[in-house]
Amino acid sequence: MKKIMNLLAIGAVSSALIACSQSEQTNTSAAAAAPAGVTEQTILQPGGEWPSIGRTYDEQRHSPLNAINTDNVGNMGLAWYADLPTKRGVEATPLMYDGKLFLSLPWGQAMAFDAKTGQTLWHFDPQVDKAYSRYACCDVVNRGMALWGSNAYVASIDGRLHALDQATGKTMWEVDTKIANHTYTITGAPRVVNGLVIIGNGGAEMGARGYVTAYDSATGEQKWRFFTVPGNPADGFESPELEMAAKTWNGEWWKHGGGGTAWDAFAFDPETDMLYIGVGNGSTWNRKVRSPDGGDNLFVSSIVAVKADTGEYVWHYQTTPGDHWDYTATQHLILADMDVEGEQRKIIMQAPKNGFFYVLDRVTGELLSADNYMPITWATHVDMETGRPVENPMARASSMEFQVVPGPSGAHNWHPMTYNPDTGLTYIPAMANSALYIDDHRIADRKVVWNIHYNAEAVVFLPDEIPFEQRAPIADMVASAVLIARDPKTNQEVWRIPQGYYSSGGLLSTSGNLLFQGDLDGDFRAYNATNGEELWSYPTQGGIMAAPMTYEIDGEQYVAVAQGWGGESGLPFGVISGPKNMFNISRLMVFKLDGKGELPVIPSKEEVLADVDLPHGSPESVAEGKILYGQYCVFCHGGNAVSAGLIPDLRYGLANTYAAWEAIVHKGGLGANGMPGWEGFMSLEETMAIRDYVRHETKLGAERGERRIVRGD
Ligand code: CA
Repeated sequence: MKKIMNLLAIGAVSSALIACSQSEQTNTSAAAAAPAGVTEQTILQPGGEWPSIGRTYDEQRHSPLNAINTDNVGNMGLAWYADLPTKRGVEATPLMYDGKLFLSLPWGQAMAFDAKTGQTLWHFDPQVDKAYSRYACCDVVNRGMALWGSNAYVASIDGRLHALDQATGKTMWEVDTKIANHTYTITGAPRVVNGLVIIGNGGAEMGARGYVTAYDSATGEQKWRFFTVPGNPADGFESPELEMAAKTWNGEWWKHGGGGTAWDAFAFDPETDMLYIGVGNGSTWNRKVRSPDGGDNLFVSSIVAVKADTGEYVWHYQTTPGDHWDYTATQHLILADMDVEGEQRKIIMQAPKNGFFYVLDRVTGELLSADNYMPITWATHVDMETGRPVENPMARASSMEFQVVPGPSGAHNWHPMTYNPDTGLTYIPAMANSALYIDDHRIADRKVVWNIHYNAEAVVFLPDEIPFEQRAPIADMVASAVLIARDPKTNQEVWRIPQGYYSSGGLLSTSGNLLFQGDLDGDFRAYNATNGEELWSYPTQGGIMAAPMTYEIDGEQYVAVAQGWGGESGLPFGVISGPKNMFNISRLMVFKLDGKGELPVIPSKEEVLADVDLPHGSPESVAEGKILYGQYCVFCHGGNAVSAGLIPDLRYGLANTYAAWEAIVHKGGLGANGMPGWEGFMSLEETMAIRDYVRHETKLGAERGERRIVRGD
């Protein structure tokens, strides 16, 4: 064994296990007073419906429906489909209640459909200023809605929370969840617990300080707010726990935001009356910048339990002390009750980005087991005595020599897992990926605040030293999805299916002993949940990221999934996905046994990449443009200016004329499409340096004989 140096012994408070002394007794009085429609009972016992994002408060995403099962799933066909009015990534799980299917769309739009026929009932558009997309790190996606009483709730990318009438889609109330003058984004689904609408936010890549807010479901009145990281001590602390947390930070972290945004996972246990929050990465990513003398930096990359009615802290477990790699613990949280080593336990489980699968006692926060579900290089194991990961010292060395596994996409990202109480297994849509993390002070000097490299750190997905032609195979080698079945009682793997593509799709399990998953190549599949055998697949014409769900109407079971390639995985990685011709066809598809529906024929054509006869920029300008491109453009338009297929590939035409570049990139001529202008953020000269860089990549692509397939008219 290599000698391990623990670089994390800084900070006065041990992050590992700070457990509360007691748990609150069940409080269901708020539920009893809830209006007609969706109540706590609806979400606890949904039967054939799917009234909450994870179906139930425990977020297991498992349905007891079994009319579609291993014997007959081969006969499943399309019942109906609805093309969606968007070309951006679709990550939402639909909800089903009282015969209606509710689906959120990019930007925070929402639609309702007749769940049996597919007829559109309404379409809500929050009228987001599309230029707000400049603050979205990872596409303008939205992962879902919440239902309570007769209301439906959705949050828009610009940080507003909307209460809509389930019947009409009309706005009942709206609040702006942002602190004034901050650039938060919301992509996650609200939850409603004890009559309170719970919502977090994203933006740790842009310098945010994370928090979770609870609003009265009837009025939108703010009831409590829990900050996940401390602010400037000079301003006072919002709670005693933040004073404790501040002891694990140093320097002037608040100037960098601190991070800890809770952008996806929540779970609720009405018996303990605790709300569990998945907390995100630090801001800046680079701990050397945000907390120069180290420290755990609570509560970044932690699971935090708070009292649902008040937001008061109860316990936390930090998965990645002093996070340095964007290892969020925002990933799906699942609650279950099970026998662990002879003792009945109320557990909470998570497979966060860092590659470890954690099982904790959710009453006390005690760590029960932790083992890596994917190969990792940043740590060797979790020390069960301290509850802390034992890091590989090279992982913080900022070395071009050391490949950190996993990279910032994580060994598992937002793609929902599922826990099947029949098989006793948790299924993880995992991914292999890696990155080099280096300190880059050229970028620090620029003082930009939205940046894939984010303040004084570069993350090099595929280093420049590797010739372009070799990148796709390397990427395939280091980046591939794996479907894993794992037993949380023993924290042992039961089976795994290596999948050829580099990013995953969300999961659904059912008591038909089935596991459903879509993939980015455009297939929707059903597996035997016991052994992983593939039993059925359906070609969907476009990549799927979102998790499927299932429901029953008039005694008939349906399986629904929203497709629409994009998001964090979809936008930046055209270099990897491009050759496979990924497309965004945003569409809700609903299947049933003997469904006879058919998808439309979609025309396609081939285009050859051409470098037109215009002068190219100087090498200096190309180099300057490359850095700027990495800060402003890469998240949407892709590394090496290769688009992943849903955002325009700049090399095919746009970059060619000076006038078009100025009109669109500088002046914002396509603002209504979601392409913000950068005047005021960059000089015209800098904008044109980006053009020079894109023109340079165009020339290289043309020399490679690059071509693409374009779908649609
Ligand atoms: Ca992040």
